[in-house]
Amino acid sequence: MDLDRLINDRIRDIADYPKPGVMFKDITPLLADHVAFAGVVDAIVNHHGRGTIDKIVGIEARGFILAAPVAYHFGAGFVPVRKKGKLPARTYEETYDLEYGTETIQMHVDAFSPGDRVLIVDDVLATGGTAKAAAELVRRGGGEVVGLSVLIELSFLHGRDRLGDLDVHSLVTV
Ligand code: IMP
Repeated sequence: MDLDRLINDRIRDIADYPKPGVMFKDITPLLADHVAFAGVVDAIVNHHGRGTIDKIVGIEARGFILAAPVAYHFGAGFVPVRKKGKLPARTYEETYDLEYGTETIQMHVDAFSPGDRVLIVDDVLATGGTAKAAAELVRRGGGEVVGLSVLIELSFLHGRDRLGDLDVHSLVTV
């Protein structure tokens, strides 16, 4: 099976999770397949090119799983963006709307050196609210956002339209 087919094959749809009417993309079968997992990491690194990025930002929680090996293979540092209350030192925070209610994410204020080139990595781009807030955190922290890489883009939710001219790279578009 070629790599694109393998990656698609290892993403499973879970109906009505986490609530009725939602079709959840579950990437755990992909993570459990070392060929598919490595293929995803390599594809993200190859898209941008080694040596072009200083820091990889991973978004809690599934974004961490992809971002950490991407950072290792890039030779870049890893910076976590976490849900409110999880980071120990001083943070910037951004709040954004969900379908019901709001979410707040945070990042340490000293995560970057001035002018660091930063790639944001997450598992899924849905409405784009999370990615937009993460990009804002990076800018506030003095980093230059050079792109967003996601494993899956739910294009019917038009998330990339909320991200302005950000370079959005997705491996699977639904
Ligand atoms: P957005 O803010 O609406 O773009 O949602 C993106 C965030 O929600 C990401 O951090 C994802 O981890 C999570 N997410 C949304 N839909 C799914 C899904 O179908 N599977 C896994 N994660 C999802």
